[in-house]
Amino acid sequence: MVTYSIVVPLYNEEEVVGEAYRRLKSVMDGIGEPYELIFVNDGSKDSTMDKARALAKQDSKMRIISFSRNFGHQIAITAGMDAARGQAVVVIDADLQDPPEVIPQMIEKWKEGWQVVYGRRAGRKGETLFKKLSAKLFYRTLNALTDIELPVDTGDFRLIDRSVCDALKTLPERNRYVRGLVTWVGFRQTFVEYTRQERFAGQTKYPLKKMLRFAADGMVSFSQRPIKIGKTLGITTISASILIGVYQLYSWATKSNISEIACWAAAILFVQGLVLLCIGIQGAYLARMYDEAKGRPLYIIGEVIN
Ligand code: UDP
Ligand code: MG
Repeated sequence: MVTYSIVVPLYNEEEVVGEAYRRLKSVMDGIGEPYELIFVNDGSKDSTMDKARALAKQDSKMRIISFSRNFGHQIAITAGMDAARGQAVVVIDADLQDPPEVIPQMIEKWKEGWQVVYGRRAGRKGETLFKKLSAKLFYRTLNALTDIELPVDTGDFRLIDRSVCDALKTLPERNRYVRGLVTWVGFRQTFVEYTRQERFAGQTKYPLKKMLRFAADGMVSFSQRPIKIGKTLGITTISASILIGVYQLYSWATKSNISEIACWAAAILFVQGLVLLCIGIQGAYLARMYDEAKGRPLYIIGEVIN
């Protein structure tokens, strides 16, 4: 029986893997309950895998899952959670930006009965102003657009209970925005605050392109507003065309005065508005199809009594 599973995704982290292992090991040994470390090698092209293999050789608590190529951070942590056998599962970045020393605080909350304990970043050290600002803006925009309350300033550093981990396995969607899914499944959630540290070594594995793709996954998976925007635009445009048309009729009836340009504008706006509205209606169908395609369960049961 394993009480804790620690899931660590790694992509080209050769400079970091040894130190991550040492820090995690010392924290987990201090807790004194059975645990496993699951290192997920996400198709690293450097010596990450060799280094991890050498560590696993002399430590039976360490398990490695190695992908055949780079499948991405979110898939890597999903694989780690699928393989986890613990009663509580902690996901943590390899680069030590999320300090392992916060894990005991998470465990304490878990023992109080919380089923999700996420790490909330009270501050970020050593990240560019652009990264800080874009992250702030992204989490807030996403929240404004979605119906579920996604916690702001949190990453994937969190502890989840076995029941939450099992619930996540019932969500088959492919474009996974894991932190959103964790919120979606519900359960009793709380947080601990920590300061995000500088990377221990190496560069970020999230270049702008990956970051944008990640942001798009979050938006598209959890908000239908973008696809339905045609409806709003269409109704606005049609309303404007009707207002202009009515005013022209009124001015023709009372003052025998009519502007040809305004009439044309009204006619064009009306047709354009209809087109936008039709696109919006298609969007509504598409959004529902997407919802069906995601195949999420209708509900997640937290507890049954008798
Ligand atoms: N990572 C991964 N696959 C990827 C990109 C990143 O497994 O395609 C891992 C990476 O090794 C690290 C974690 O995901 O453990 C977070 O990545 P990173 O620290 O580069 O992101 P940042 O902190 O800059 O947002
Ligand atoms: Mg990092």
